[in-house]
Amino acid sequence: MLLYDENAREEATLYLGRDGSADEANLAQAQRLFRCRRTHKDRAIARGTLAMLADIASRYPGKRIEYVSAYRATRDESRTSPHRGGRAIDFRIRGVSLIEIRDYLWTTYREVGIGWYPAEQYIHMDHRPGDKDIAWTFLRGSNVYHPSWADRARSKVRPTRAPGV
Ligand SMILES: [Zn+2]
Repeated sequence: MLLYDENAREEATLYLGRDGSADEANLAQAQRLFRCRRTHKDRAIARGTLAMLADIASRYPGKRIEYVSAYRATRDESRTSPHRGGRAIDFRIRGVSLIEIRDYLWTTYREVGIGWYPAEQYIHMDHRPGDKDIAWTFLRGSNVYHPSWADRARSKVRPTRAPGV
């Protein structure tokens, strides 16, 4: 897949299996690319999260995934944050509607957190194994949980699988 680092303004290629697996070189590449923007620390990114990323990439062949934030290791990042856990990626794909990506992820996967950031123009996705699903919209500086789009999407399709399974 073709990636673009919004912060460093660099393009990179990453090869991942649909289940989020990869060889050593690509796992190392993922860890480096998704390092903390502020501290430059890195850590392994969860396989379920990489699986969702691979799935999204395969749905939009030839499109570049622009990521804004992944691993976050700053002091102000909460201990339970999926970003701190290496389980979250915030991203967009130019020319693809965020709503389409959001609804696809929310109706396809269980055990995930999906956040929609319409003003900032990105989607947050994380895998939270064994935890309840959660959806939110980020509006005027705060998260609005249980947004109507989430109920609406799942009234038609219920997710059956966890990422990477
Ligand atoms: Zn996020």
